[in-house]
Amino acid sequence: MTEGSSPVADVDAVVVGAGFAGLYLLHRLRQKGFTARGFESGGDVGGTWYWNRYPGCRCDIESVQYSYQFSDELQQEWTWSERYASQPELLAYIEHVADRFDLRRDITFETRVASATFDDDTHLWTIVTTDREGEEETVRSRFFLLGSGVLSTTSIPDFPNRDDFEGDTFHTGRWPHEPVDFSGKRVGVIGTGSSGIQSIPLLAEQAEHLYVFQRTPNYVVPARNRPLTADEVAELKADYAGFRARQWERPSAFLFPFNPDSALSVSDQERFEQFERQWDIGGLPFLGAFGDLLLNAESNRLVTEYWQAKVREVVDDPAIAELLIPKGDIFGGKRLCAGTNYLETYNRSDVTLVDVSGAAEGAAGIEYFTSTGLQAAGQHYELDAVVFATGFDAMTGSVVAMDITGPDGTTIKQQWSNGADTYLGMAVHGFPNLFNTQGPGGPGVFVTMVTGIEHQSDWIVDCMSYMRDSGYTRLEATAEAQENWVNVVDEAAAQSLRPKSDSWYTGANIPGKHQKFMPYIGGFPAYRQHCQASADNDYAGFNLS
Ligand code: NAP
Repeated sequence: MTEGSSPVADVDAVVVGAGFAGLYLLHRLRQKGFTARGFESGGDVGGTWYWNRYPGCRCDIESVQYSYQFSDELQQEWTWSERYASQPELLAYIEHVADRFDLRRDITFETRVASATFDDDTHLWTIVTTDREGEEETVRSRFFLLGSGVLSTTSIPDFPNRDDFEGDTFHTGRWPHEPVDFSGKRVGVIGTGSSGIQSIPLLAEQAEHLYVFQRTPNYVVPARNRPLTADEVAELKADYAGFRARQWERPSAFLFPFNPDSALSVSDQERFEQFERQWDIGGLPFLGAFGDLLLNAESNRLVTEYWQAKVREVVDDPAIAELLIPKGDIFGGKRLCAGTNYLETYNRSDVTLVDVSGAAEGAAGIEYFTSTGLQAAGQHYELDAVVFATGFDAMTGSVVAMDITGPDGTTIKQQWSNGADTYLGMAVHGFPNLFNTQGPGGPGVFVTMVTGIEHQSDWIVDCMSYMRDSGYTRLEATAEAQENWVNVVDEAAAQSLRPKSDSWYTGANIPGKHQKFMPYIGGFPAYRQHCQASADNDYAGFNLS
């Protein structure tokens, strides 16, 4: 033992984050008799749904699926009001879960984990936290569990003179808690990903004039949100377990009408009718129209053509319609967006779409801010407020923001600078007794989030129980197992068209970030089999001591 190091753990586990992942980890740890402390930078529980409060913010995965299933009592007592839950309803749900399972008592809010260092003599992590006043606390823990979020580290590009702007600025992922009134204001939105697409129609309704600065258009399908009927809810609750079991068998753990046939196997008319049926269902299930839309380039071209015709039908001005159509991008390569009145919003006379792609001859993108607005595409726009819908340093951002140091002195930031390699998406060679959730190498962002979280958290806490029962105090993924898993992840990615698009899945949205398709896209059932095979073989792929 090194001089001064304590062999005693304060807790069995430190959990970072109090969103869906952190809360369920705390619950599961308590159930299995482990002591734990949670740290959360926000003022309360909720994670994504605590921070993202922008107008129109809601989940585009159906609420009856985007929810916990570990407790049937919870499933029975909670009733979702809409097909897609709004942010306030999701936050109310998470707060209810925290109350019902008394989870807040183990969480310290408004406190960040600044650093975590593994001591190879004691097999303990020393974790230093900092609160809002800068007060530090040190906690020693056997395990370090991360639920710090896939899309939680906001990104605002380094636009020249950004600080000169004297109007109000907002990031969709750090929206104020008090209401923001844009009435009578000239508002600029930068970014047309999911967050921009959800907020733009509502911002347009409020603002005196809305300017949308679009670098790349996105594929968007109508969400078709609606209230859930009492009959639908009753039917679901009569057999929630059966519904969940069917959900688990789907590659994305998301149940929706899915046609496995190829788009090339039917006549033009049949294909059109099938696209129409899924279009009417609305939302991400549109991708279920045919089984090979993301596997076969020709099928993808056909769905793209269908979608382009829809845009030209909805948008009155043909020049604006053309601007809203992605050029040469895979349909669904970037995450498909589900919108409500998004395309229709560009028919309003008080909305201007500004092309900042720099694609047109002589045109520039966003050039610089001034004290009164934004110089973009060769013109100055006078603005009272700017909304950055510019996304996140996804999948790795919240992990590398902590100074996590393994026994050989390497930080996870250093190790991941050439690619975020993991074993099973949860463990990292060189970082013993650390588990991540929903991170790179895992299926997280391609699986209904809450379902994926429950599966990984159960696996992690079962692994900790196995170690406790077997007298092990140290576990580390082997270099070989990690390399093999990276190959599995890469082979799955190679089957899909998705990696061909630049997106936050590949890290392309963050300048200088190592680029590689990060998620495991082989499907939830296959992923579960890989995890189960390791567990069944005394946690194969790990060195235990
Ligand atoms: P995003 O998809 O990464 O979109 C960011 C937008 O900002 C893009 O349009 C991007 O343009 C633009 N942008 C970035 N840098 C720029 C620059 N320098 N100049 C001009 N434009 C720039 O981020 P997001 O919309 O926040 O969504 C991220 C993810 O969060 C989604 O894919 C989804 O998984 C999740 N989300 C989910 C929901 C939901 O309903 N469940 C809602 C919101 C978000 P480029 O494309 O040209 O880079």
